[in-house]
Amino acid sequence: MTSPRQIPYGRQDISDSDLAAVEAVLKSDFLTQGPVLPRFEAAVADYVGAAHGVAVNSATSALHVAVAALGLGPGDLLWTSPITFVASANCARYCGADVDFVDIDPNTFNMCPDALERRLAQAQTAGRLPKVIVPVHMGGQSPAADRIAALARAHGVAIVEDASHSIGASYRGQPVGNCARSDITVFSFHPVKIITSAEGGMATCNDPDLAARMALLRSHGVTRDPALMSGESDGPWYYQQVDLGWNYRMTEMQAALGLSQMSRLDDFVARRRELADRYDRLLSDLPLKRPGRQEGAQSSWHLYVIRLDDVARHRTVFEMLRQDSIGVNLHYIPVHTQPYYRDLGFNDGDFPASEDYYARAISIPLYPGMTDADQETVVESLTRALVPSV
Ligand SMILES: *Cc1c(COP(=O)(O)O)cnc(C)c1O
Repeated sequence: MTSPRQIPYGRQDISDSDLAAVEAVLKSDFLTQGPVLPRFEAAVADYVGAAHGVAVNSATSALHVAVAALGLGPGDLLWTSPITFVASANCARYCGADVDFVDIDPNTFNMCPDALERRLAQAQTAGRLPKVIVPVHMGGQSPAADRIAALARAHGVAIVEDASHSIGASYRGQPVGNCARSDITVFSFHPVKIITSAEGGMATCNDPDLAARMALLRSHGVTRDPALMSGESDGPWYYQQVDLGWNYRMTEMQAALGLSQMSRLDDFVARRRELADRYDRLLSDLPLKRPGRQEGAQSSWHLYVIRLDDVARHRTVFEMLRQDSIGVNLHYIPVHTQPYYRDLGFNDGDFPASEDYYARAISIPLYPGMTDADQETVVESLTRALVPSV
């Protein structure tokens, strides 16, 4: 007996041309630190309209080099929203800085600009403003970037956009990642995200000094550039470690896969948008809330998150879908309720909108290779779970 085919919540799409690009690198002279990486960086920077792209081995590493390049350190504070992957907050802890959270807008699941405004006013009075804010593009949709940027600027706070979900998305007609409303934008190329390099991430920015600093930190803080060294060169072999960095380099195989996937990005996003619009129609009569749209934003639809009207049936509905081989998931457990963050002083009740979201949310399958028939299977299973009489 064969078990029914699992429909996952997300899945990469690897073509023959992607395979050929990786194979070509494996047969070339460079497996790392070769010519493909700068081509991938340029392709992403050009696409999003940023001056610089710095590729690293994950978005987690990109967040780390981004906040480190902005000078975040012990005694400093970083704010993000609780509905995100833990990496958005952890980057501060890597630098010895403190973390706090701003609750979400229940409609878009992104950092609420009203909550941010209140918190900034309080922080100003208390003399403890954050150094960096990390707004997250939850599910592929830009947050209310105009207001967040204006508030941050008014208080001298830097912005690192966690756009791990949203390459290919746009805001006010411009691509996410152009950093018109931030200092740095970070993308993830993990296989479930919009495009993949297996593991990988990139930070885009417009400031050449920030880009140079992130590039230095991704490779030990070691440089061969005389302009970055102190004193005289000893000879043609010479390099200097001028800061403490890490080995966060992306391989040439990863860069080749990422570069090849960039040529498919628009097709991926177009199909995701089509599927999201279909879900909006197919789910309109069920006792659930569909994802809300942010004014001015065009999502890349990394995730399609429904919220159940009936909190009490959350777990049952989730389990029924899993039993039907529908690979539902929950993005995310509020970060402040993780044991590591509880130990830092956070509690249940600190961020009510995020906790209410967590009590109702289910991510249902969405990926470019999903067929209309797969989607109808998901909707039928969800309908059976939600409307028991059907
Ligand atoms: C996936 C993800 C990350 C981390 O990305 P990696 O490339 O896996 O390190 C960070 N933030 C968010 C919001 C993510 O979804």
